[in-house]
Amino acid sequence: MSDESGSPTFIIADFSDDDAANENWPEIEFRSPEDEAWYGVDVWELCDSLVVTFNGFSFEYDEVYSPDDFKNPEELKEFEERFRACSVQMQDTECATLAQGTKVCATCPSVAGEVKFYDAIVVNVSREKHGVDEEGNEVCGCDYKLYWNQGPFVNNVTSAKVGDICLVQEDKRMKPKVVTFLKEARRQLLGEAPQGKETEWQKILKKVTSAIRDHNLDPSVPENQG
Ligand SMILES: [Zn+2]
Repeated sequence: MSDESGSPTFIIADFSDDDAANENWPEIEFRSPEDEAWYGVDVWELCDSLVVTFNGFSFEYDEVYSPDDFKNPEELKEFEERFRACSVQMQDTECATLAQGTKVCATCPSVAGEVKFYDAIVVNVSREKHGVDEEGNEVCGCDYKLYWNQGPFVNNVTSAKVGDICLVQEDKRMKPKVVTFLKEARRQLLGEAPQGKETEWQKILKKVTSAIRDHNLDPSVPENQG
């Protein structure tokens, strides 16, 4: 995760058996490697592994990830980017917030009978005057042209209506269980000591020691670091 200030690293305390540790964190969605579609999920730990449970699906669809599943930092980063705060169904009154270039998560028209969500970008909006339904609610009939970043229509443009579109959230917070898992995976991948600074210092110390040895100097290194 980022090193930006405000990252609540101290909140990582996942010893509770219940879901208390996951309270007050945004609901998350996950882009499944199976079909690259986004799903609302919950996460829990099984020993060191991270179990991803798909909302509305039985446990047979659960996906289990081990911290040593990743061959390199790119794979781990790719996995990290599969999680984000849940996108939210767009409301008719939010029509004006969409413009060319807005990143959305939308249902794909091609998948018969299945409602799958993929990322897309708004490339054009054909606005119509909004109507009102029997209950007095604003009704958006505008036509949105979406360019798909993922899914069956990747790199193509299709039409969508307000009901097809979810708004991607800016909330960058991630549930502690995911953060903890990513940290452990990164640690295993990089062979890092729990405190990266020490590792960096140990590297320097090693270089200094070998340099001294190479020059047949006295290997007693000053030890007053503090
Ligand atoms: Zn509209």
